[in-house]
Parts: sequence; structure tokens; C-alpha cells
Amino acid sequence: MADYRATVGSVELVSLTDGHGDMDPSQIFPTSSMAAWRSEYPELLDSDGHIHPRFGCLAVRSSGKLIIVDTGLHAPDGMLLDEMRSKGVDRDAVDLVAITHLHPDHVGWNLIDGRPTFPNARYLVSRADYDHWTKPEVLKDAQHVKDQVMPLESLNILDLMDDDYKITDELTTVATPGHTPGHVSIAVVSGGERAFILGDVAHSPAQAHYTEWSPSFDTDGDIARHTRHQILDKLEGEETLVSAGHFPDQGFGRFVKSGGRRIWQSV
Ligand SMILES: [Zn+2]
Repeated sequence: MADYRATVGSVELVSLTDGHGDMDPSQIFPTSSMAAWRSEYPELLDSDGHIHPRFGCLAVRSSGKLIIVDTGLHAPDGMLLDEMRSKGVDRDAVDLVAITHLHPDHVGWNLIDGRPTFPNARYLVSRADYDHWTKPEVLKDAQHVKDQVMPLESLNILDLMDDDYKITDELTTVATPGHTPGHVSIAVVSGGERAFILGDVAHSPAQAHYTEWSPSFDTDGDIARHTRHQILDKLEGEETLVSAGHFPDQGFGRFVKSGGRRIWQSV
């Protein structure tokens, strides 16, 4: 099994998995072909031809702070709290919870029965995403925002992040719009090393090569595709360590060129 911990300078990243989805890849990626999935990515498919994207979160230790990035789906069999216990992450010790975007599989454990899951934390959400999801016409179909995000404001534990927000001296948000309007990734820079917390800029290792495949749940597929090309090109060029929440194993790896095409190489 891949190591669930990675260090970047003096920053420690601990991969946490809340669970896995079960999806037909040709529905998720409408422009993809089952033939390509079957011939090029058989390792990602089960016997029914389905993919199982991970619902990944991350614990980050940086500058004396403990930060959780995204809080999973919180399905009935959601494992986030068990994962934290077994990997030595104390939820009472969490200082900050940073959310890459306001989809249900990224905010699910913000609260349990209306109470903060991380009782001593402040929660960080990008202002652009908060403004989008709380518009009445969007909010009416977004029960998860009503249940797991808006109460943070009434509890007075929500902070909105503007562009290039410094979570710590070593962690800065990067606007990566398209999947949602205010989607952010997080750049990690410490001791001359770097890493990149991708969020949902990509959902499958297949997008390393098929970067134009946009999932059906992107808010704006064209912007998402543009963002994905730009970010993956840069990460490949700089050989940056990436943490990808929906990717297999522990979600750590690099985008590299191999045999004339870009691939995802797990580490
Ligand atoms: Zn997601």
C-alpha cells in the first residue's frame, strides 16, 4: 500500500479516505469512450466497468497548525473519523478546515447533527464559491449547503477566503475555477520543496492524458477544461508532488511524461 504520509519541507500531509463512489465512467465523462477506458485503464475498472473515485480528505501540519482540507461525503458508511483516529489525527486539535469547493462530497463532515465536527476549528471557504452557492436560485437545490455550510456562519466559525489566501506561511490558495465558480486548489511551498493540493481540477488518472474529458458535474465544462490543461501542464513541467482527492491509493503522485503521453504516477 502506498504511504499515507508525505512531507514537503517542514509540512506534513496525511491522506484520509472517507469512502469510494461507484460510477459508470461514460456517464461521468460524457465525451469519453468505454473502449478507451477498457483498453487503456483496465486497472481503474471493476468487472461491471465501473470506476470507484475515492472521497479523499487531507490532514496538513504546517507552521504549528493542524488543517483539514475537505471533509468528505459523510455517507452512512463514511470512514473519515476512523481514518483520523487510526492515522493519529485528533479532531479536537484541528485549527482550520479549508474547503476546496462546496460540493456534497467535500463538506459532508463539517457538522454532525448541527455541531462542528472539529470543535476548535475555524472553517475556510472561498468567497466566490460561497457567493455562488448561497444565491437563492442555486441554494434551493443545494440541501448540503443549507445543512453543512450555512450553519457555520450562524455559529460564527466561518471565514471567507479571497484569491491567493494565505492559510499559513506555507499554504496559499490558487483559484482553479470551472468545476465550481470559486473552486480553489492549495499550493504548498516549504524549505525549497513544493506540493499541490489539486481538489477537483481532475477526478481520474485518465485525465492526465485525456485532459479534455470534463465530468458532467462541472459547473462550467469549458472553464474547467481550460483550468485543467493549464494546471496539469504546470504540475508536469515542475514535477510537483500532487495530492488528488478523487485519485486511487492515497492520492499522492506526479503527472509525468512517459512514452509520449502524460500519465499519473502514484507515489
Ligand atoms: Zn469531488
